[in-house]
Parts: sequence; C-alpha cells; structure tokens
Amino acid sequence: MSRSVLVTGGNRGIGLAIARAFADAGDKVAITYRSGEPPEGFLAVKCDITDTEQVEQAYKEIEEAHGPVEVLIANAGITKDQLLMRMSEEDFTSVVETNLTGTFRVVKRANRAMLRAKKGRVVLISSVVGLLGSAGQANYAASKAAMVGFARSLARELGSRNITFNVVAPGFVDTDMTRELSEEQQTKILAQVPLARYARPEEIAATVRFLASDDASYITGAVIPVDGGLGMGH
Ligand code: NDP
Repeated sequence: MSRSVLVTGGNRGIGLAIARAFADAGDKVAITYRSGEPPEGFLAVKCDITDTEQVEQAYKEIEEAHGPVEVLIANAGITKDQLLMRMSEEDFTSVVETNLTGTFRVVKRANRAMLRAKKGRVVLISSVVGLLGSAGQANYAASKAAMVGFARSLARELGSRNITFNVVAPGFVDTDMTRELSEEQQTKILAQVPLARYARPEEIAATVRFLASDDASYITGAVIPVDGGLGMGH
C-alpha cells in the first residue's frame, strides 16, 4: 500500500536516506528543502519549519499531490555549538525554535488529518546527545531531550486514535553535520562508540521505516537508539 509520507529536511543527510527508504518501498514521498536544487525522485516542497505559514503551504501542496500525510518524519534540525559562557541567547533560542518548535509545527499540522483518518505514524529524529548531554551543545541537547517529552505526551494523548509517536535517537552519523566537527572531536567521539565507527544514514533510515511499518503497530512512546552502543543504559 502506497502511503503519503513527509520527511522534513529530506533534501540531504539522514533525511534524504529516510526519504529514499520510503520511496524504495513504494510510498509517495514528499520532502522539504529551503534553498538550492532538491534531489530528484520526490515531491519537493519549499518550507522553513520555523515559519508557520510556510508549513501550512507545504502541507496544502502535499495534500493536493499525495493526499493527507499518513507518515510524518520530523527530521529537520540544526546545531549551534558553543560553551555556555559564550552561548548567546540567539544561539539557544534559534536551535530550540528549529528543533523543537519546528517539530511542534509540523506535527500539529499533520495531526488534523491523522485524527480524521483515525491512524497515523509520527517519528521524531532526536539524538543520543539529548539523553547523554554533551559539553558545548546545551542548546541542542535540551531541544533533543524535549522531543522525547513531546512525543511521549502525544503518545498518551493520541494513542486511542491509533496514532503512534516514536523517537529515534541516532548516535554519530556521517553527514554534513558531523563533517563540521574537528578531527580531535571526531577521534574522541569514536573512542566512545562500541561499534567504533559512525553510522551510515541508511542505518538510521531502516529503523525509521520499521517504526512506520505494520510490524511496529504496537510500539508508541519508544525512544530507539541507533548509536553503535554509545548511549547504552540511557
Ligand atoms: P544535516 O545538517 O545534513 O541536514 C539538516 C537538514 O535539516 C537539512 O535538510 C536542512 O535543510 C534541514 N533544516 C534545518 N533547518 C531547517 C528549517 N528551519 N526548516 C526546514 N528544514 C531545515 O543534518 P543531518 O542529516 O545530520 O541531521 C538530520 C537530523 O538528525 C537532525 O535533526 C539532527 O539533529 C539529527 N541527528 C544527526 C546526527 C548526526 O550525527 N548527523 C546525530 C543525531 C541526530 P537545508 O538543506 O535547507 O539546510
């Protein structure tokens, strides 16, 4: 059965791998992008998730082309790393605005049609850092930890409507985001990962697709680590 799937930030990195996984399985996949040329093979809608009006427009476009969104993957996210002492209020609020409030916006808009359909799958892409904490990433970690409380509250609120909310917490994945880390940071990180390597984006995508599949019909409010063992026990 071909479902209407939306992946925010599906134009590159983990989001693109997730979009490909759903498309390969025969779903109708829409992705958001902000600038440049989006990848081919998807319905690409221009949308900055910090802007409610753009989110509304994107959903309208998707609904017209693919029907109401049945599977939402809230993947778009940013980092603005800085030690607390040097972290400006803007560094903090902009990360929360994208990662948390942006997620709220896309989930809230998807919920309307999911309630009507009496079914829906929502997967939020958090991070192992939200559970472990990370020096220099207080803004990012706070936003990613908050996604867990958000998802679990909605799992309780909307479970009886057959809508599941799950969180995937990736460890370090080989994307633009991690390529920005210094060599010293990368060596330190890898020393802590039992599997001793970064994840490939496809390894995150496989878990996301599982959570949206029939095989995961009784899983909600879960936080699934895909982190090579980095966050074990958290
Ligand atoms: P990238 O930096 O490669 O890509 C980020 C994506 O988010 C891009 O598609 C970007 O769009 C989109 N995005 C950012 N801000 C906005 C916005 N305001 N509106 C719409 N889209 C936006 O990141 P990754 O692929 O590495 O990360 C994807 C998700 O996974 C993020 O939530 C990240 O926090 C999380 N994650 C990543 C890990 C890693 O090691 N890479 C580890 C754990 C979690 P655009 O191209 O327009 O900038």
